[in-house]
Amino acid sequence: MTTEKETHLDIVNDIIAWKRDGHELDEERLRRFVFGVVDGSIPPYQASALLMAIVLRGLSDGETLALARAMVDSGKTLDLGVLGRPVLDKHSSGGVGDKVTLVLAPLVAACGGIFGKMSGRGMGHTGGTLDKLESIPGFKVQLAQGDFIRQLERIGVAVVGQSERLVPADRILYALRDVTATIDDEGLIAASIMAKKVASGTSGIVLDIKVGGGAFMADLEKARSLGRLCRVVGEAFDRRVTCVYTAMDQPLGWAVGNRVEVEEAWQVLKGQGPEDVRTLVVTLAGAVLALSDLGISEAEGSARAAHALDDGSAAEWFDRWVTVQGGSWKPGEFHRLAAAELVAERDGYVTGVEARLVGRAAQLSGAGRQRADDEIDAAAGVVLRKKTGDAVEAGERLAVVYARRRELRELSLGVMKSAFTIAAEAPAPPTIVLARD
Ligand code: URA
Repeated sequence: MTTEKETHLDIVNDIIAWKRDGHELDEERLRRFVFGVVDGSIPPYQASALLMAIVLRGLSDGETLALARAMVDSGKTLDLGVLGRPVLDKHSSGGVGDKVTLVLAPLVAACGGIFGKMSGRGMGHTGGTLDKLESIPGFKVQLAQGDFIRQLERIGVAVVGQSERLVPADRILYALRDVTATIDDEGLIAASIMAKKVASGTSGIVLDIKVGGGAFMADLEKARSLGRLCRVVGEAFDRRVTCVYTAMDQPLGWAVGNRVEVEEAWQVLKGQGPEDVRTLVVTLAGAVLALSDLGISEAEGSARAAHALDDGSAAEWFDRWVTVQGGSWKPGEFHRLAAAELVAERDGYVTGVEARLVGRAAQLSGAGRQRADDEIDAAAGVVLRKKTGDAVEAGERLAVVYARRRELRELSLGVMKSAFTIAAEAPAPPTIVLARD
């Protein structure tokens, strides 16, 4: 006699075989898979086998959408309709030195939009906005749903941690994908990103899809294909989605870490700071504001954003936002940890600063984590002094590493040494914004 459990495992086995043999998964099969993963009736070995079959066979647009829908339905969703205005969001596909949200969130609010975002923590070589915000003493990243909505009403900006109750399927599947070589599939990535965006209730979403050695997507063609799929999913849920494709070969800006990135974000908010960060922020702000109810184009949105960076209103909004979320911080107040310097061994031009390695060096300094429960050091990190295209003389500083202990500084510096390439010929100037769809 077969038990109910055996029958269920047989059905899941058939679903795996169906996909393995190249057939389309219909809505019913995908829902059984997602709900079974969440309620524990599908064991990790079966879930992993199906994930691998998906990676090998790919997902059609219809399958990706059905998967995203099932993932959204696996948990709660947030209704931001009570605000009566579109809530705007920006999602970056992960990078090194990416402090854009710290600047963009108050900037959009200063320009009259409402920016509400659920962010994540850093993992491996990439940083996370929550860790950066928490490096501001007192800043609270957990807000009750009602407080999140009231804060959006009051000051037009709130950034909080992803609620555990939204898209529980993604947490389980992502952890499995991470250890079964099944992260890099376009359909799985699109469903994962967009399910979280849809569940968090925002209606206008700008995706900053990173391209290059430090990103998920190594080339622009693949990145655009992912962007198209994300738009297909977003639009099916009545979300307006714009994709901006940006370079992630070298880190964004100079600073990579947590507090060091807050300080750099503050510079940009004051109309200063590195040019690549400002250019990217102004571009994304234009795209975000064009999705608002302000009735403006992207160009007009970018012009307003540039003005708000230069006239101090974005910086004022940042102060307000930080204070309302419990943080207390004055620029220049942070003390630095002991530093170790990397200097150039030869004259020439910097032809590359490998983002992945700089991210790894920052992680080793204490700024990042290897496992989800690792502690991080808010003050640790790396600050670059030279970037691609800069001329350099032997003995000149290329980067500074800040870490609490000498052995961490040495480890980090060791990785930084291989991050830089220097050659006799100047390279073509790097471009930050590559395309937009
Ligand atoms: N970011 C996500 O949220 N999900 C993925 O699958 C990949 C990147």
